[in-house]
Amino acid sequence: MVEPSNDLQRHLQLLSAQFAERLAQELPELAGKAQLLRDANDQESQRQHLLSLRDQLHKLAGAAGTFGFVSLGQRTQALEQQAIRWLDALQQEQQGLHDFIADLQQLSQQQFQIELAQESTPATPKTAKSSSATHCIYILEDEPTIGENMRLTLSNFGYQAEHFTRIADLDAALQRQLPDALVIDVNLPGEAQTGLNYAAALQQRLDEPLPLLVITTQDDFTTQLEAVRAGAMGFFSKPVDIPQLENRLERCFAQQYGEPYRVLIVDDDRELASRYSLVLRSANMLVEALNDPADIFSHMRTFNPEVVLLDVNMPGCTGPELAQIIRLNDDWLRVPIIYLSAETDISRQMSALLKAGDDFVTKPISDNALVAAVFARAQRARLLSNALSRDSLTGLLKHADIKEQVAIELERALRGGSQASVVMLDIDHFKKVNDSYGHPAGDNVIRALANLLRQRLRRVDSLGRYGGEEFLAVLPECPPEQAQRIIDEIRQRFADLRFIVEGTEFAVTLSAGISCTDADISASELLERADRALYAAKESGRDRVCQAD
Ligand code: GH3
Ligand code: MG
Ligand code: MG
Repeated sequence: MVEPSNDLQRHLQLLSAQFAERLAQELPELAGKAQLLRDANDQESQRQHLLSLRDQLHKLAGAAGTFGFVSLGQRTQALEQQAIRWLDALQQEQQGLHDFIADLQQLSQQQFQIELAQESTPATPKTAKSSSATHCIYILEDEPTIGENMRLTLSNFGYQAEHFTRIADLDAALQRQLPDALVIDVNLPGEAQTGLNYAAALQQRLDEPLPLLVITTQDDFTTQLEAVRAGAMGFFSKPVDIPQLENRLERCFAQQYGEPYRVLIVDDDRELASRYSLVLRSANMLVEALNDPADIFSHMRTFNPEVVLLDVNMPGCTGPELAQIIRLNDDWLRVPIIYLSAETDISRQMSALLKAGDDFVTKPISDNALVAAVFARAQRARLLSNALSRDSLTGLLKHADIKEQVAIELERALRGGSQASVVMLDIDHFKKVNDSYGHPAGDNVIRALANLLRQRLRRVDSLGRYGGEEFLAVLPECPPEQAQRIIDEIRQRFADLRFIVEGTEFAVTLSAGISCTDADISASELLERADRALYAAKESGRDRVCQAD
């Protein structure tokens, strides 16, 4: 684990110091409430004061430990439990209530200090490399034709792939340069060891294990177990479906170099929210925090969080109520909701979870535990969300989602006064590709174009598979002339790709049409114009990019 930066430590200390200042106000406030409770002479006002004490203790219990006030956290939690018991017992018993009151008043007279918790170093993930760099893949496959075919196909997809038939050759290459991923065949009849034994020993030697994909003719349980133990992230039976293998490679890289996870925190306690934000940001996540639950809609829409952290007890609207509101909207069904609360009562946790929400994390929580809880949820949510909204052949957005993106970007462009371009692309004479080389070869061509587009376009651009061999891209803040240059370069690169099927080489071209936003155009009109421009490109001879008139 990496040591946190001094900067982070300084921020955390600053927040703890702010919390200490808040304590100087809150503890006397508690004492004041205790006095009111003592002076109360009817049950109803006792109940009201107890309720208010319970709420304040609950918040303090959750916050104190997090800010490093461990024993205050424990004391307030115990007092909260007592407040709850007194509320329950209000009718039956009056004795002992005085002790409780005395305890509360005593609290404000004591000195509390920051006690450093056992473990307060947030995990700092390794810095992300650029995702657009060409990834280098080493393939170990003893059968020359299979290995060579895989190398060529992966090269078509834009990878820098190298193929080795012998362990000794791979070893030599590894000495020179480490690849970004390894593809290894299990059965190597000419060698003294299996590919898996070799891979397992290699991973041990490396500082950080390499993403490993395993190819084999044996797909039994034992082999899969061995593969997992060697750190395999993919397992493919021969004959290998290479687009599928490439898909897995991309997923590995997306996890490694992907965009930071987006986390929304809702907590009425500003300092706690700031602290959680800081801890999660230092673990490379993007965080927005809001203190008023009523602001939820705008944050869900504009920030589009992948995980929501909810406080349970908030004035005006409780965490479970807010979770139910989020769940009323189908668009946000995929977003996991985690309650962060000082609630330790299991039955109350359960009842919150039954209403809505996916997980319960109790405050105080260590920084590492918070990062781990959020990271695991975000990772899984992103995988599932991709599986649901992305086309399985290309990994791009599906028809409905990319169409929606056109509307979103149009609105954004109008608001921001910038121009966005919409591009419709279609592969030329694709039926012929299928007819001449077979449907799987056609699939490869589609994936290669998807990969090329993904690599050449910017992160802010949206990209979808609009139909069979038709793609739609939305380029925000990109005037049509610039879009023309970008897409024309992609057109040339695509035409330069060489596909190989059973020794026969072939090339494919594409046509594209571009339209762009203006003040009074609708999303459907934008699409229609791009489609007409595409038609014009086809009509005038294909392999070209046309602008809408
Ligand atoms: P044009 O230059 O006018 O676009 O000609 P074309 O042959 O590309 O256009 P057409 O729309 O007539 O044919 C598209 C073909 O794409 C027909 C369909 O079978 C094929 N196709 C659609 N989806 C897939 C797919 O997922 N995989 C493969 N291999 N082929 C597909
Ligand atoms: Mg076509
Ligand atoms: Mg077509």
